Amino acid sequence: MKSFLASIRASSTRRFFLAWALALASAIALPIAGVGGEVEQQFQNLRSDLLEKPASGDIAIVEIDAKSIQALDRWPWPRDYYAGLVEKLSAADVAQIAFDVDFSANSTAEQDMAFAEALKKSQAAVILPTFKQEETSNKGSYIESLPIAILRDHAFLASVNVHPDENGQLNDYSYGTITDGTVRPSMAAMIAETPGNIDKNFSIDQSIDPATIPRFSFVDILRSTEPIEALKGKKILIGATAIELGDRYPISLHGVLPGVVVQAMAAETLLQGTNVQNIGYLPSLAFAGIVLVIFTMRRSRSENSLVPAALAIAAILFILLLVSEYFGVVTFSNVPALFFLGILLIADKFLKTNLALNRSRFSNADSALPNEPAMIEFIGRCEMSNIAVARLSDFGDLLVVTDKDSRIDLFKNLAERLKFLAAEERIFHLDTNIIGWVVKQDYANDISGHFDTAVALFHAPIMAGETKVKLNASFGLSGESIDKAKIASDQAIAKSKRWALHDAEAASAIGQKQNLLVEMEQAIERKHIWTVYQPKWNLRENRLDGVEALVRWKHPERGMISPELFIPILEKAGRIDELTLHVLQSALDDLSIWNAQRPGLSCSVNISAQLLDDIAFIDKAIAMVGAANLDNDHIIFEVTETAALADLQLSVDALERIRNAGISVSIDDYGTGQSTMSYLQRLPIDEIKIDQSFVKTMMNDDSNRLMVKSTIELAHALKLKVVAEGIEDQPCMDMLTEFGCDVGQGWHISKPVSSQGFKTNWLDSITTEKAVRVQAV
Ligand code: C2E
Ligand code: MG
Ligand code: MG
Repeated sequence: MKSFLASIRASSTRRFFLAWALALASAIALPIAGVGGEVEQQFQNLRSDLLEKPASGDIAIVEIDAKSIQALDRWPWPRDYYAGLVEKLSAADVAQIAFDVDFSANSTAEQDMAFAEALKKSQAAVILPTFKQEETSNKGSYIESLPIAILRDHAFLASVNVHPDENGQLNDYSYGTITDGTVRPSMAAMIAETPGNIDKNFSIDQSIDPATIPRFSFVDILRSTEPIEALKGKKILIGATAIELGDRYPISLHGVLPGVVVQAMAAETLLQGTNVQNIGYLPSLAFAGIVLVIFTMRRSRSENSLVPAALAIAAILFILLLVSEYFGVVTFSNVPALFFLGILLIADKFLKTNLALNRSRFSNADSALPNEPAMIEFIGRCEMSNIAVARLSDFGDLLVVTDKDSRIDLFKNLAERLKFLAAEERIFHLDTNIIGWVVKQDYANDISGHFDTAVALFHAPIMAGETKVKLNASFGLSGESIDKAKIASDQAIAKSKRWALHDAEAASAIGQKQNLLVEMEQAIERKHIWTVYQPKWNLRENRLDGVEALVRWKHPERGMISPELFIPILEKAGRIDELTLHVLQSALDDLSIWNAQRPGLSCSVNISAQLLDDIAFIDKAIAMVGAANLDNDHIIFEVTETAALADLQLSVDALERIRNAGISVSIDDYGTGQSTMSYLQRLPIDEIKIDQSFVKTMMNDDSNRLMVKSTIELAHALKLKVVAEGIEDQPCMDMLTEFGCDVGQGWHISKPVSSQGFKTNWLDSITTEKAVRVQAV
């Protein structure tokens, strides 16, 4: 569970960083691509609006307005009008007089002289404008138009050039210009007496309300008889405001303004010191980026906390900028940071949706376990895959007793229980009642053991919410595909086997079916098929009890072939009788010899399910036993529980026939079918053999231990002998002895051995009945 959460968290962190990188890259790319200027300006306007303040009042404009033009008959005005104005302003004791009027051409000598005379006499310093302009005859080179020489002698010069942006707006203003090596401060810099970095720009502070700059009409001053008190000490800027004179520029917050007002605003900006340094967009972008990373790293980020976090950062940046601009510290751009936050939210949302979609595409809605497409993808990554599926039987009944939530719980518990059988511990939920996994490499050479364990794990009751349920399943195996494994699980049901390998693969594992049948006869002749014996130990009397005959086939090309592979094929082809009779004959031959040395040994022989229907076979088998030099009751026929119960009457008849001949009957693999002991009682049997899947796991599994114990008690009550197969260690054997089990069989006692091996290791070396058990090789 912990690792599941960790993986969810890891994937959400990965997703965040992907979105983060994407957003950062776009936020840096946008200003480079020139996107966002307009947004930037709108934000600037918003701040200017909020920070609105009046002009200082130190700068006043003398307007060449419509009223003045009307009042003073002709246009252009003779220069003595300007001379008169300078005299009046000087008399009013102004601090400075700056003209935004072009005096670069001569008028009449008399007029020019009059104006020059007035400049000379002025108490206040006078600034006259210069214009930098492109030469008409020589494109790309610039000249500076200066006031005519006679005027220049008595005035300072300042540049009135302005530089509208790509939208034609005049939001920035320069500290000065350089033309052909000549440095010229700008008019605003000269008025404010602020030296700046020539050729650098600053933003005009639009929070200064242009309407609060004092204005006087040219004509009013010219015609005043007394010095105007309001002008005293002010810096005067003279320029055209009459619409008919043109010279108007749009600025973003205040719309179209006369050039002279823009000059005054620029000078006010410098005077008020709000021409703060612009530190660009990187600091705010870095702030947003770093805060978000820290926020994520500290895990305080729940799935939906990104939006409030981004909004909080945007608000902090806005307030920071507002405060900084208010106190004239610095200014910076927030727009790339806002782009970053916006794109991050969109990208995160997109990736989140994508992830959720992927998750739902690869998980089963009924269990939240990974589904079939996920398994197909997983198989693609595995080098070698034995695909196993478990088909849960009686799923309909389970649906009745459980609700959806408890089934989710059930599948989760089942996956947890089965995971150590599976590669990378991954269990998949393929269909309503089918789960699957890739068999772990550790089990590659013991597929049978793998399924035995799976059976045992399924048998133990499992929790589905509050309900305890018992599951049954049939298992299928394929080395090729999930579908084939599913088919194999069906075949397992049909064959009453715990598990089955997909038919075609089983056939190809041992050659073509046809070949196999031909080969079988030769194999018997050439002794490629032979019988081995697995000793059975009498647990009550602590002595050798007998053996089980098990067939072996060593193919010259394919090596050892498991009986679990070739027996189903022979059964299907109707040729199992020949093989069984061959095994029986070998067993009788060997047992006759052994009995001379050790009287009383028994031998079990496995009889396939379908042979119970075959009276001819049964008679042949009985005759064969009769012909041997043995007591018939030393032979036991093992039939599987499901086989014996397939057609009860037929089985009863066949088993009666066998028992009447004195041969004992044992029920093999007891516990793997559905029947109860009392039902089995209707059959004429002598013994039951508890299936190894219960015995192998009984030390660790309470319910399997209980099953073994109660089976022994019940069987004894019914006067049946009990054999336990699959004993793999001493504690298991001790416990079975304690439970009163009659006979034990398993690798702990001995693996199946050849007849010669059995004689050497089990008969020749054990001289007394109570001899210590010898471990066979
Ligand atoms: P079975 O009759 O239940 O035989 C027991 C199987 O369990 C044998 O596998 C045996 O080697 C194995 N076994 C015994 N003790 C242990 C143990 O402690 N641990 C583990 N993991 N396995 C143990 P085998 O020889 O591969 O036979 C498998 C099945 O093939 C048999 O199951 C039986 O159904 C069938 N079979 C074998 N020989 C014949 C035969 O001659 N005729 C027929 N019809 N079927 C046969
Ligand atoms: Mg058997
Ligand atoms: Mg068995």
